[in-house]
Amino acid sequence: MIGAGAVGAGTAWHLARQGHTVTLIDPSLDAPIQRSNESDQSLNGTTASLGVLMGNVFRRSSGRAWRLRQRSMELWPQWVERLNHPDTPLQLHSPLIQLASDPMEAERMEALANQRHDLGLESFSSVNTGSHPVPWPNPGGHGGLLSKHDGRIDPLALQRALRRSLKAEKVGLVPARVTKLHRTSTGEDNRWHLELDSDHTIDCAVVVLCTALASALLLQPLGHDYPMGAVLGQVLDLQVSAPSKAWDHWPAVLVCNGVNLIRHGNNRLWLGATLEQGEKPSTEEPAIMRRLDGLAPHWLQQAEVIDQWHGLRARPSGQPAPLLDVLEPGLILASGHYRNGVLLAPATADWVCQQISIFIGL
Ligand SMILES: Cc1cc2nc3c(=O)[nH]c(=O)nc-3n(C[C@H](O)[C@H](O)[C@H](O)COP(=O)(O)OP(=O)(O)OC[C@H]3O[C@@H](n4cnc5c(N)ncnc54)[C@H](O)[C@@H]3O)c2cc1C
Repeated sequence: MIGAGAVGAGTAWHLARQGHTVTLIDPSLDAPIQRSNESDQSLNGTTASLGVLMGNVFRRSSGRAWRLRQRSMELWPQWVERLNHPDTPLQLHSPLIQLASDPMEAERMEALANQRHDLGLESFSSVNTGSHPVPWPNPGGHGGLLSKHDGRIDPLALQRALRRSLKAEKVGLVPARVTKLHRTSTGEDNRWHLELDSDHTIDCAVVVLCTALASALLLQPLGHDYPMGAVLGQVLDLQVSAPSKAWDHWPAVLVCNGVNLIRHGNNRLWLGATLEQGEKPSTEEPAIMRRLDGLAPHWLQQAEVIDQWHGLRARPSGQPAPLLDVLEPGLILASGHYRNGVLLAPATADWVCQQISIFIGL
């Protein structure tokens, strides 16, 4: 396995639990799991992420993207149960509330809630929020959508829990960067040879690439073209002095105008994330995001910025995210998850495991 973000580490853990011998390679494996943009470098996707799990409110009701979301939402409770440990506690936080920005969006939300009652979706109008009072001066009074089972997982807690569980499952952890990979033989005895920046090499039967933006570089010399673009995301950590009532029923995630507002600690709120093409953070985008297109209440605009960070998402060019493909015998690509890599980690691990079972003839 190359790459130890949510996708790679989650897949390595899942494969080890299924009885496979797994080695996970990533230069970050000997570094502490923490958020810091001290060197002004972008964080990897998982560390920068807010960990929002929006599976059931997805707009489409068919196709691969929907199936992957449904599979992940099915697997997440099992993953959390197995990964949760007193040393590395992990839990799912719910619910998620989306506020409608205009009457058309409110109508769409109502239609979705009508189709997906069994998945825990309920719509509400501005006047009747039912048993879940909306913690927001409802912008324009358009109502919204409550999703009981969507929500979030803390991506740092997830990575810590995965790292502990990987060790427990005896997964080999190699803190190095893969600089090159190639096949050493053809025909039945198919092997892969990996060169590392530590001057070591590794030979194996199957390689799974979970290297987000770096995947294209590793694949190009092998003749596989999977271009991806970087989409940078910035997150603000705000200290607010909101009317205390607003906090009483704050959901795990409140979504307004496509921006997530996540309460953490006393009067603290994460607000994110921006969507910026390229790898350099804009100085204007955080302020634009914070206005929520004119829907932000006064107290949000007045909040003090305590911290902020940014990270990169890998967006496949000309193909839908994610890139899940068997490229050659024993060479599997599980990358390019763009905005939903944390959400889709369990479904991706499940898919990779199926491909390996097919490959080794289980
Ligand atoms: C600000 C922000 C907010 C987000 N919010 C959410 C959210 O709420 N919910 C959600 O589901 N998704 C969210 N995302 C998207 C999500 O973070 C990504 O889709 C996901 O993290 C991708 O996971 P990954 O494991 O594929 O990649 P990454 O987490 O980027 O990990 C890739 C790893 O590969 C390693 N690597 C690269 N090259 C090599 C090499 N040559 N050799 C060895 N290792 C290598 C890197 O060191 C890195 O650790 C967000 C992203 C950002 C930036």
